[in-house]
Amino acid sequence: MAEVLVLAEHSGETVKKVTLELLTLARRLGEPAVVWLGAGADGGRGRLAEFGATKVYVADGEGVDDYVVAPAAEVLAALASRTQPAAVLIAATADGKEIAGRLAVKISSGVLTDAVGLAPGDDGSGPVAEQSIFGGAIIVQSRVRTGTPIVAVRPNSAAPEPAEGAAALEPAGVEVSEAAKSARITERVVAERGERPDLTEAAIVVSGGRGVGNAENFALIEKLADSLGAAVGASRAATDAGWYPHQFQVGQTGKTVSPQLYVAVGISGAIQHRAGMQTSKTIMVINKDPEAPIFELADFGVVGDLFNVVPQLTDEIARHRES
Ligand SMILES: Cc1cc2nc3c(=O)[nH]c(=O)nc-3n(C[C@H](O)[C@H](O)[C@H](O)COP(=O)(O)OP(=O)(O)OC[C@H]3O[C@@H](n4cnc5c(N)ncnc54)[C@H](O)[C@@H]3O)c2cc1C
Repeated sequence: MAEVLVLAEHSGETVKKVTLELLTLARRLGEPAVVWLGAGADGGRGRLAEFGATKVYVADGEGVDDYVVAPAAEVLAALASRTQPAAVLIAATADGKEIAGRLAVKISSGVLTDAVGLAPGDDGSGPVAEQSIFGGAIIVQSRVRTGTPIVAVRPNSAAPEPAEGAAALEPAGVEVSEAAKSARITERVVAERGERPDLTEAAIVVSGGRGVGNAENFALIEKLADSLGAAVGASRAATDAGWYPHQFQVGQTGKTVSPQLYVAVGISGAIQHRAGMQTSKTIMVINKDPEAPIFELADFGVVGDLFNVVPQLTDEIARHRES
């Protein structure tokens, strides 16, 4: 069975959840072989083995993670040429999508980005990716027809399923060229976000919109999010008004999220907002206007004033958790 290269997303030794999701998808297509850039592979290996990685190619040579995205594309290109994998899977993060594009150019292959599903093609002609396009209005199935399929998959597109793997460490044996070292990372600052999960990776997201009314009231959204162990998001109306930082904006010009549960509070459901959350598995809406377009997407909806509904919901969840 051919290998499927999976680019690991990790923070030091800690493997990010999206990598486990990619491993789960990779197992449908072939033998998952992880590509690990930088230090920490020894510590991360165990987790990768639990999710079926057969091999871990380690590129931890001098400077490999000191330069923006170019070294990752070079390492993947060299490994793809050597191993002729059935596919290369990358997380559809901002960096991941750039790496995927650069890799596609280097190995003259087709690339699909923002996939929300992935399955083997039934006639052996390569994996079929599901994508949500035109602001999430249409779901399409796409296949790469040239070269090695490169697929950037959105976080939360698959539930990670454990499976035993050897996760044998192997040096990638790739020298990063001087050309790939032109943009150097001089400092890394860890964003302060307390205990909350990362917005694009969170299993639950609670977002607030213009209906929240002001910055202070976002405490209500945060409390609800914390009761669920969720990340906090916001509509552009809320971020433009300065009620919540721009990095938490969900939508066409913000972050794309695809959590198991998305709770939209005081958000009308403009097409640009939908573009960033429409592929969420379950959508819950709290809005006082029963005609708000967001209800068209809702699996569950509460027509009501968020200032009544949200505190009661938060209390109820806390009570439920305690019992
Ligand atoms: C090029 C472009 C890009 C854009 N990109 C984005 C993007 O990335 N993300 C994004 O979100 N938007 C984006 N927008 C803006 C988008 O068009 C909308 O203006 C925006 O999403 C509206 O935000 P909202 O739903 O919070 O506000 P509104 O549309 O004003 O909706 C507020 C909602 O709150 C409800 N409400 C009010 N008070 C209460 C209450 N007390 N209790 C319960 N419900 C209440 C109202 O009924 C209403 O439905 C973009 C626009 C353009 C032109």
